[in-house]
Amino acid sequence: MSKCALCGEERELEKSHIIPKFVFRSMKKNSPTGNMRMASQPNRVIQDGDKQAMLCGVCEDRFSQNETIFANKVYHPYHSDNLQVVEYGLWLNYFITSVSWRSLYLDIIGFVSEQNIDIKELDTLIEAEQIMREFLLGKRIDLGHIENHIFFFGPIKEVAGDTSEFELHTAIGGSVVGYTYISHDFDSSYVFLNLQGILIVTILKKAVEEVWKNTLVGENGTFNMEKPNHSVSSPVFNELFALANDLKESRQKISESQKEKIVEGIKKNPERFLKSKAYQRLKDDERIRKN
Ligand SMILES: [Zn+2]
Repeated sequence: MSKCALCGEERELEKSHIIPKFVFRSMKKNSPTGNMRMASQPNRVIQDGDKQAMLCGVCEDRFSQNETIFANKVYHPYHSDNLQVVEYGLWLNYFITSVSWRSLYLDIIGFVSEQNIDIKELDTLIEAEQIMREFLLGKRIDLGHIENHIFFFGPIKEVAGDTSEFELHTAIGGSVVGYTYISHDFDSSYVFLNLQGILIVTILKKAVEEVWKNTLVGENGTFNMEKPNHSVSSPVFNELFALANDLKESRQKISESQKEKIVEGIKKNPERFLKSKAYQRLKDDERIRKN
């Protein structure tokens, strides 16, 4: 028996996924070799996402319904190129908050135990964590100053400047991350989530000059994928390049024997590889390089 991170009751805790299970299941299914690797440990094939004992069964159940709606209405259609118009209700804010909150909660514990955070910045995070927790428990109906945003990464048409060193399609479309990001320069903070190209940002504290056009998740609304018409300018955007850089570095760390295993896997089933999203992303990166 331990204290549940959400409701605070002393109950038996379950091992919760930080990033929902359906993301990893689909990532594995769509991998060209059927395997997944983590950027931090590129030589190890992983089975499942990061799991932590943090929630009781009751709270796990609170999250599961909206996870299923998100998976069926957004995640799976997006990854099978069938997402056109999404009409959403409260479930979207709830889902995003539930994932961001899990990341934020664990990051606060990390920041405190490593003592590598400014006390004012920590206060901002703790205040946001409380608002999100109360919202998730139904104790409040709004998120106050906290904003959830969602946008979708699509094939890049053209880029300004030399980005040939970055494999953005592969890095963003092929990875899953969630963490708290603090910008010291702009005095702002966020939870940044990338679910294989579905980019979700929870703004905990906004910078003075940020642009978020047509990305805010309200009580209800519509996303039209044919005319997305969104534009974003925010310090958190630098994280996309940080992500591409991490991937590049982790690729360089893959050992020769692991590389051979990957190539063997592809040779065994070349059809699977040629049809995979991973192959499409490599082609998109190549196209940008040539331009
Ligand atoms: Zn609970």
